[in-house]
Amino acid sequence: MTPDDLIDHARAEWAAGRGGKAVALAWDAVNRAMDKGSSGILRQAADLADDIAAGSQGRTERDARQLADYCRHCLAGVGNGTQADSLLSLVTSWRRRRRCPDCAESISKDARVCPHCGYRIAPPPA
Ligand SMILES: [Zn+2]
Repeated sequence: MTPDDLIDHARAEWAAGRGGKAVALAWDAVNRAMDKGSSGILRQAADLADDIAAGSQGRTERDARQLADYCRHCLAGVGNGTQADSLLSLVTSWRRRRRCPDCAESISKDARVCPHCGYRIAPPPA
Protein backbone atom coordinates (compact mmCIF):
# COMPACT_ATOMS: atom_id res chain seq x y z
CA MET A 1 0.00 0.00 0.00
CA THR A 2 1.25 3.47 -0.82
CA PRO A 3 1.24 6.31 1.74
CA ASP A 4 -1.65 7.91 -0.18
CA ASP A 5 -3.67 4.69 0.08
CA LEU A 6 -2.97 4.52 3.81
CA ILE A 7 -4.10 8.11 4.34
CA ASP A 8 -7.29 7.35 2.39
CA HIS A 9 -7.89 4.30 4.59
CA ALA A 10 -7.20 6.38 7.70
CA ARG A 11 -9.76 8.97 6.58
CA ALA A 12 -12.32 6.21 5.93
CA GLU A 13 -11.73 4.72 9.40
CA TRP A 14 -12.13 8.13 11.00
CA ALA A 15 -15.30 8.77 8.98
CA ALA A 16 -16.60 5.46 10.36
CA GLY A 17 -15.85 6.62 13.91
CA ARG A 18 -12.78 4.45 14.49
CA GLY A 19 -10.30 7.12 15.56
CA GLY A 20 -7.75 4.74 17.08
CA LYS A 21 -7.52 2.70 13.89
CA ALA A 22 -7.33 5.91 11.84
CA VAL A 23 -4.38 7.17 13.88
CA ALA A 24 -2.56 3.85 13.48
CA LEU A 25 -3.04 3.94 9.70
CA ALA A 26 -1.94 7.58 9.52
CA TRP A 27 1.24 6.70 11.46
CA ASP A 28 1.90 3.95 8.95
CA ALA A 29 1.39 6.40 6.07
CA VAL A 30 3.77 8.91 7.66
CA ASN A 31 6.45 6.30 8.24
CA ARG A 32 6.25 5.17 4.64
CA ALA A 33 6.14 8.74 3.33
CA MET A 34 9.33 9.48 5.26
CA ASP A 35 11.09 6.66 3.52
CA LYS A 36 10.27 8.46 0.28
CA GLY A 37 10.83 11.98 1.66
CA SER A 38 7.28 12.99 0.79
CA SER A 39 6.18 16.06 2.79
CA GLY A 40 2.69 16.15 1.20
CA ILE A 41 1.67 13.10 3.21
CA LEU A 42 2.95 14.76 6.39
CA ARG A 43 0.62 17.72 5.80
CA GLN A 44 -2.36 15.46 5.12
CA ALA A 45 -1.60 13.32 8.17
CA ALA A 46 -1.24 16.40 10.39
CA ASP A 47 -4.61 17.76 9.23
CA LEU A 48 -6.30 14.40 9.73
CA ALA A 49 -4.69 14.02 13.17
CA ASP A 50 -6.01 17.46 14.14
CA ASP A 51 -9.51 16.39 13.15
CA ILE A 52 -9.23 13.16 15.12
CA ALA A 53 -7.81 14.92 18.18
CA ALA A 54 -10.62 17.49 18.10
CA GLY A 55 -13.26 14.77 17.91
CA SER A 56 -11.79 12.20 20.30
CA GLN A 57 -10.99 11.74 23.95
CA GLY A 58 -8.47 9.93 26.08
CA ARG A 59 -5.82 7.83 24.43
CA THR A 60 -7.02 8.39 20.85
CA GLU A 61 -6.93 12.16 21.31
CA ARG A 62 -3.46 11.95 22.86
CA ASP A 63 -2.15 9.70 20.10
CA ALA A 64 -3.64 11.95 17.41
CA ARG A 65 -2.02 15.03 18.94
CA GLN A 66 1.32 13.25 19.10
CA LEU A 67 0.98 12.38 15.42
CA ALA A 68 0.12 15.97 14.48
CA ASP A 69 3.10 17.24 16.50
CA TYR A 70 5.37 14.67 14.85
CA CYS A 71 4.30 15.76 11.36
CA ARG A 72 4.51 19.47 12.11
CA HIS A 73 7.92 19.11 13.75
CA CYS A 74 9.22 17.62 10.53
CA LEU A 75 7.40 20.08 8.26
CA ALA A 76 8.79 23.00 10.27
CA GLY A 77 12.30 21.69 9.72
CA VAL A 78 11.64 21.27 6.00
CA GLY A 79 10.20 24.76 5.60
CA ASN A 80 12.81 26.44 7.73
CA GLY A 81 15.61 26.92 5.26
CA THR A 82 16.43 23.24 5.02
CA GLN A 83 17.27 22.12 1.51
CA ALA A 84 14.75 19.74 0.00
CA ASP A 85 17.42 17.15 -0.72
CA SER A 86 18.31 17.02 2.96
CA LEU A 87 14.77 16.09 3.96
CA LEU A 88 15.72 12.45 4.18
CA SER A 89 18.75 13.09 6.37
CA LEU A 90 16.66 15.37 8.57
CA VAL A 91 13.95 12.77 8.85
CA THR A 92 16.43 9.99 9.45
CA SER A 93 18.07 11.78 12.36
CA TRP A 94 14.75 12.98 13.72
CA ARG A 95 13.11 9.57 13.57
CA ARG A 96 15.55 8.28 16.16
CA ARG A 97 14.03 10.76 18.60
CA ARG A 98 10.51 11.40 19.75
CA ARG A 99 8.86 13.64 22.27
CA CYS A 100 7.66 12.43 25.61
CA PRO A 101 3.86 12.79 25.51
CA ASP A 102 3.87 13.84 29.15
CA CYS A 103 6.70 16.38 29.53
CA ALA A 104 7.51 16.99 25.82
CA GLU A 105 11.24 16.43 26.28
CA SER A 106 13.09 14.85 23.36
CA ILE A 107 13.83 11.22 24.16
CA SER A 108 15.09 8.14 22.34
CA LYS A 109 12.54 6.58 20.04
CA ASP A 110 13.23 3.25 21.73
CA ALA A 111 12.74 4.55 25.27
CA ARG A 112 10.02 2.82 27.26
CA VAL A 113 10.31 5.15 30.24
CA CYS A 114 10.95 8.89 29.90
CA PRO A 115 14.30 9.73 31.60
CA HIS A 116 13.03 13.25 32.36
CA CYS A 117 9.71 12.60 34.06
CA GLY A 118 9.40 8.81 34.40
CA TYR A 119 6.39 8.60 32.10
CA ARG A 120 5.83 5.07 30.77
CA ILE A 121 5.65 5.19 26.99
CA ALA A 122 3.73 2.79 24.77
CA PRO A 123 5.79 1.71 21.75
CA PRO A 124 4.75 3.36 18.46
CA PRO A 125 2.59 1.29 16.10
CA ALA A 126 4.70 -1.12 14.04
ZN1 LIG B 1 8.75 12.90 30.07
